[in-house]
Amino acid sequence: MTTESKVNLLGLNREEMGAFFTTIGEKAFRATQVLKWLHQYGVDNFDAMTNLSKSLRDRLQEVAEIRVPEVIMDQKSDDGTRKWLFRLDDGNAIETVFIPDKERGTLCVSSQVGCALDCSFCSTAQQGFNRNLSSAEIVSQLWLANQLLGREPNGDRVVTNVVFMGMGEPLLNFDAVTSAMDIMMEDFAYALSKRRVTLSTSGVVPALNRLKERSDVALAVSLHAVRDDLRNELVPINRKYPIKELMEACRNYLDRDGRRRITWEYVMLAGVNDSDADAHQLAKLLKGIPSKVNLIPFNPFPNTHYKSSDRETILRFQNILINAGIITITRRTRGEDIDAACGQLAGKVEDRSKRRFRNIEVSHEQI
Ligand code: SAH
Repeated sequence: MTTESKVNLLGLNREEMGAFFTTIGEKAFRATQVLKWLHQYGVDNFDAMTNLSKSLRDRLQEVAEIRVPEVIMDQKSDDGTRKWLFRLDDGNAIETVFIPDKERGTLCVSSQVGCALDCSFCSTAQQGFNRNLSSAEIVSQLWLANQLLGREPNGDRVVTNVVFMGMGEPLLNFDAVTSAMDIMMEDFAYALSKRRVTLSTSGVVPALNRLKERSDVALAVSLHAVRDDLRNELVPINRKYPIKELMEACRNYLDRDGRRRITWEYVMLAGVNDSDADAHQLAKLLKGIPSKVNLIPFNPFPNTHYKSSDRETILRFQNILINAGIITITRRTRGEDIDAACGQLAGKVEDRSKRRFRNIEVSHEQI
C-alpha cells in the first residue's frame, strides 16, 4: 500500500476515528485508546501503543500513518516567543508561533498555505494563496509544539490556548478546521476548553452561520474599520459581506448558550482608522454586543506603506472605548525580532498563482 492511501490518524476526531476502526473491522472503542496515545502521550509509531495487540498494530501499520510536517526552522525571540517553520509534504511551508505569558501558553496556528483574502495590511496576503491545510496538518502544529516545547508524555500542558490567527482564513477551510478544533477540545486528546480555542475570522458570513451550528469555540473577528468604504479597502471580503451583515451574524453567534462575548481585532493604522470619530463609531457599532476589543499596533513588513498609530493615539482610542463601557486592551507586540508578530507570518508558498481573492469564488463547498 502506498503512503498516499494511508489515513493520517492525527487528523481524525473521535467520531472519525471510531468510524475508521469500524471500517477496518475493529471495535470503535479503540478510537479513544489511539487518541490518547497520539495526543496525550505524543507517540509517533504504532509499536509504542502497548495496549493494542501486535496484530492490530501490524494492521494499522499497513493502512494508517502518523505523519507530521518537518521542522525546518525554530526561532526563539528575546521575549520567549517561538516561531517554527514547518515543511509540508508538497514543499509548501507554514508558520506556527508559541507565545508564553505567565500562566498561559498560546499557540497561534495556521489554517491555510498563504491566504486568499488579500487584506492590504497583512504580510501573509502578499504570499498569495496555495491551498487549504488538512486537519492532520492543523493538529500537527499542536502535536509538534508539544514535542518541541518538551512536554512530558501525559505531562502538564504547555500549550494552554490555541488561536487560529496564523496564516489563512479558517472559515474558508471549514471542515478541516472544525475537525481539528474537535481534536483540540477532545477529552481523550488535548482537552482544551472551548474558551481556550479561538477562531479568528475576517468575516465569512455564511461560514460563520454554519460555525454557530457546528462548534462553540471562542470567536475573534478582524474588524479593523467601522465604515464599509474603508473596510472594503482594508479587508476586501467586506465587499461581499459588509459590516451590517457581519454584525448580525456575530450577534447570532452569541445567541447560543455559553458564548460569552466576541473579541474584535482592530489593527491601528496611523491616519487610516485611528481617529476619535472612528473610536466613537466603533463604540456605537458594538453597543449591546458583549465584546472585548483588541487593539493591535500595526506590525510592519517589507514594502508596506502603512505605519502604526503612535502610543498616544492608541491610548486615546482605547480610552474612548473604555469610557463607553467596552473592555479594551492593546495587544502587546510579541516576537517582533523574529517576525512572529500578527500579520508577519509568511511561510513559504510554492504556487502563488491564485493570489487574489477577487479571482476566488467563495463557493458553498468551501464554506
Ligand atoms: N484570516 C483570519 C486569521 C488571521 S488572524 C483573520 O483575519 O482573522 C491574524 C490577525 O492579525 C488578524 O486580526 C489580522 O487582521 C491581524 N494582522 C494582519 N496583519 C497585521 C499587521 N501587519 N499588523 C498587525 N496585525 C495584523
